Amino acid sequence: MKTLSMQHIFKKYDNADNYTVTDFNLEIKEKEFIVFVGPSGCGKSTTLRMVAGLEDITEGTLKIGDKIVNDVAPKDRDIAMVFQNYALYPHMTVFDNMAFGLKLRKYSTEDINKRVTEAAEILGLTEYLERKPAALSGGQRQRVALGRAIVRDAQVFLMDEPLSNLDAKLRVSMRAEIAKLHQRLETTTIYVTHDQTEAMTMADRIVIMKDGLIQQIGTPKEVYDLP
Ligand code: ADP
Ligand code: ADP
Repeated sequence: MKTLSMQHIFKKYDNADNYTVTDFNLEIKEKEFIVFVGPSGCGKSTTLRMVAGLEDITEGTLKIGDKIVNDVAPKDRDIAMVFQNYALYPHMTVFDNMAFGLKLRKYSTEDINKRVTEAAEILGLTEYLERKPAALSGGQRQRVALGRAIVRDAQVFLMDEPLSNLDAKLRVSMRAEIAKLHQRLETTTIYVTHDQTEAMTMADRIVIMKDGLIQQIGTPKEVYDLP
């Protein structure tokens, strides 16, 4: 668990005329589950990708814990990210998909086996470790993507519309699984969605974005004026 601090963050893509993100300010507490909502194109993914280090920050300061990480490589940021399209390697087994990031970071074989086995147990994937992604259901694939994120014990979790490719019923059950996982791991989390129900049911605080600006920040109660 770590705090995450975004101070006066701006983003302008090289080929764009205007800023995509303008003066984004947010202090995220340890263990907090933050949800970014807003219409397509408002800058949610861009902001998340800057936190992950997959996009340069044009201006501003990003801190994880008390360390400024603007120039730190993605793999050294203590962050795990889950994408909408799973981004699983199709030619690798479930085990190897989950182990990939650990191998990249030179974890020992013994440690890799232990971590992947544990994550598979938590996510109900034990029986599927030798399968390839094509032989899994959408929900199972999304669990593998989550597994790949949790094996490293990263302190910060970023999720970009992780459930939007799933059918409505599965979305509801995966929502509960992610909430449970968050309670167990207590990771600081940013979750991007355009689904208000997801935001309302999962968030500690919601950040509503529009045209690259923060419109509102508050608890689900405050933001949606619930009783
Ligand atoms: P959201 O996640 O809220 O749908 P994005 O962050 O994906 O929004 O996109 C915000 C804006 O930035 C959009 O207008 C999009 O076209 C633009 N954009 C996204 N990625 C790039 C890129 N690599 N180069 C130029 N413009 C981009
Ligand atoms: P992590 O940093 O969580 O350990 P990985 O090491 O699994 O993640 O992935 C490293 C990078 O490779 C990420 O940016 C991810 O988006 C990308 N990636 C993962 N799977 C694929 C794929 N099937 N095709 C292309 N790129 C991928």
